[in-house]
Amino acid sequence: MVFMNKAKINVTPDMLFGATEVHLSPISFCQENVLLNSSLEQPLQALFKAGKEQGFEIRVASGFRSAKRQLHIWNKKARGERPVLDQNEVPMSCPELPEWSWVEAILRWSALPGTSRHHWGTDVDIYAPNVLPKGYTLQLTYEETQPSGVMGEFYLWLDEWLSAQAEDGFFRPFMNVNNNKDNFGVACEPWHLSYKPVARVFERAWDEQARSNHKFKGWLLEQDIELKSVIIENLDQIFARFVHLPLASKKSE
Ligand SMILES: [Zn+2]
Repeated sequence: MVFMNKAKINVTPDMLFGATEVHLSPISFCQENVLLNSSLEQPLQALFKAGKEQGFEIRVASGFRSAKRQLHIWNKKARGERPVLDQNEVPMSCPELPEWSWVEAILRWSALPGTSRHHWGTDVDIYAPNVLPKGYTLQLTYEETQPSGVMGEFYLWLDEWLSAQAEDGFFRPFMNVNNNKDNFGVACEPWHLSYKPVARVFERAWDEQARSNHKFKGWLLEQDIELKSVIIENLDQIFARFVHLPLASKKSE
């Protein structure tokens, strides 16, 4: 099977920040609402097929997510209208905390709108609903993915499948388990896969266009986002700790 190696995409700021869908397509074998970059179709189908052979009916919990949707999630969490989890995945009670601590707590589990990898159409959250106990509601927590968790068997298989793949395929950008505790960055997300050939293009565009020339800051200032002033004040720290661009830093590739 031949996968596209060099993604020929002219990445615009709107594509980086999740403000457009022009770079996306529906994926024929996924649920109707899943939009992704079309070059993910074949590798994702290969993954689904391999899973099926082992008895896992894989589904995409989240593909492309717009900035508008991310803003909605962010604002609900910021106002305490939607649970914000602590490092042990236990809901916190909100606004007693200083504003910056509240922002840090939200960022552990939710990207700042405009910075989510889900804006690019290169990243998916996957799970296997057929291994869940009857009546169980999916949370997508780290605990669920652990060997003793409800989907442990599936994620163990996924570990093996990923490690047997060619270097230029899917990888997991959020796998630092220390981030759940000591480092306090983005939590460990074994369900989040990124398709390297296209994600690399977006990471570099983000690093070179959005961060370095303050385009992102300009965009953010125009958004109707809760906790805006504390976010803007700490933007460099947010980039350093919560916007993960592992491929952009490998200049030789
Ligand atoms: Zn994700």
